[in-house]
Amino acid sequence: MINQSEINNLRQASIPVGQNMIDGKKVDASDGAKMDVISPIDGTFLTEIAAGRSVDVDKAVQAARIAFEDGRWSSLAPAARGKVLQRIAEKIVKDAHWLAVLGVRDNGTEISMAIKAEPLSAAGTFRYYGELCDKQYGEIAPTAPGTLGLVHHTPVGVVGVIVPWNFPLMISAWKIAAALAAGNTVVLKPAEVASLSILRLVEICHEAGLPDGVLNVVTGTGLDVGAPLGQHMDVDVLAFTGSGPVGRQLMMYAAQSNLKRVYLELGGKSASVVFADADNLDLVAKVAAGAIFRNSGQVCVASSRLLVENSIHKDFVEKILNIAGEMKLGDPLDLSTNAGAIASQTQMNKILQDCDRAVADGAELKLGGAQRAVETGGFYIGPTVFDNAPQDSSLVQKEIFGPVLAVQPFDTEEEAIKLSNDTDYGLAAGVFTQNINRAHRMVERLRAGVVHVNTYGGADVTVPLGGVGQSGNGHDKSPHALNKFQNLKTAWIQL
Ligand code: NAD
Repeated sequence: MINQSEINNLRQASIPVGQNMIDGKKVDASDGAKMDVISPIDGTFLTEIAAGRSVDVDKAVQAARIAFEDGRWSSLAPAARGKVLQRIAEKIVKDAHWLAVLGVRDNGTEISMAIKAEPLSAAGTFRYYGELCDKQYGEIAPTAPGTLGLVHHTPVGVVGVIVPWNFPLMISAWKIAAALAAGNTVVLKPAEVASLSILRLVEICHEAGLPDGVLNVVTGTGLDVGAPLGQHMDVDVLAFTGSGPVGRQLMMYAAQSNLKRVYLELGGKSASVVFADADNLDLVAKVAAGAIFRNSGQVCVASSRLLVENSIHKDFVEKILNIAGEMKLGDPLDLSTNAGAIASQTQMNKILQDCDRAVADGAELKLGGAQRAVETGGFYIGPTVFDNAPQDSSLVQKEIFGPVLAVQPFDTEEEAIKLSNDTDYGLAAGVFTQNINRAHRMVERLRAGVVHVNTYGGADVTVPLGGVGQSGNGHDKSPHALNKFQNLKTAWIQL
């Protein structure tokens, strides 16, 4: 387990200038352009990364295409691919402390959370898909006698991966490990405000024996790198996690280019529903507070809405306010901090504007809503709670992606379901009740990709994560994720 003195040493370590990885070689952007990396912890300059452009994307896609076509990866026995992925997992674990600290210096997540959610989770994902590599079978279709219909799962070819900044290692691993397990090659574009730990991950993949050209990475802005990847004529599948507006763009890029398949894991406005019959309301309040305030709300499944049965509404809000008020905000590299930084100044300013709008829309501000720890030079907003949020306000309808909770009272189960389902999103939901029939009814009727019962946010790599509605159309994790990166090919044989 990582301890504070090790963290204090690692936070002083110098960080190399970030370079792209194309065909197994670390290279600058073609025109030598770089962009600054600013730490959200104190607003200081950390290092530079390559500011890629479409010409760099072209080179990366070309390397990935050559590597795919010559079979250096796709033609390996699945078990051999699996061994490399499992070696990557081992090496991530060995480097976990540095990966975690590097990531926190870049994006501000609390280290106590980052260590598990980032390197250790990514290692678990590589291990899982490494083990799964040689466990997927093809099919023999039930055709008429004298014919044989074989269904093969074949790799799609070159996969483009675009990820956000909140959990760069975990989310990249979900996509890369599954795409590689299926035999594809990859071009990865990290978020410009959280590239550093991903660049180290890509190095580790090569150190573990992943052949050159199989995993390429190009850093830079969404418009300079993400858009050319989305528009590329030689990318077969694009797997994206990020915001809805960019997801829409990617679908348009696909339509305007080669009709590549696009899988979108987008945002949410997930609600937890607390019934008066829930067991141990103190514990429920703790879970509900963690569900929105961990990683400062920069979690796709964050429960940013809280629906509370009217009879307990007032008391329950008090419990939440007490817990939120006691959270330790500040340096995310302090192991005792549980409210870290917002990943960038731009995101912090957006959250503050959303809070101002919520007040103007009539929600009652009970806590927070302003920048804190200004003297650090970093980007901090403490836990923020609004009560009696109007259902049609943007506070209730739009994702904020910050530590902002909207509370609403309800009277009946029917009303709770109606309120919970009344947004464009459908990523996650939570239900707290001791009534088992009610719990099952809620699971059935809540419109969400995952419904948590008497807990929130629990998950592992064995279960799929993906939304419905405008939360997206794809699933990460579990054996199902392999299908995103495979084509079905039929062999029809006349005997
Ligand atoms: P974002 O959409 O702004 O950026 C995501 C990525 O897309 C970044 O790498 C960015 O550079 C790139 N990008 C930006 N513009 C682009 C363009 N025009 N073309 C191609 N690429 C472009 O998202 P973000 O602010 O980094 O992350 C927050 C969002 O991610 C939230 O909406 C959150 O809910 C979502 N998210 C979803 C999940 C999930 O599994 N559903 C997980 C984590 C985060």
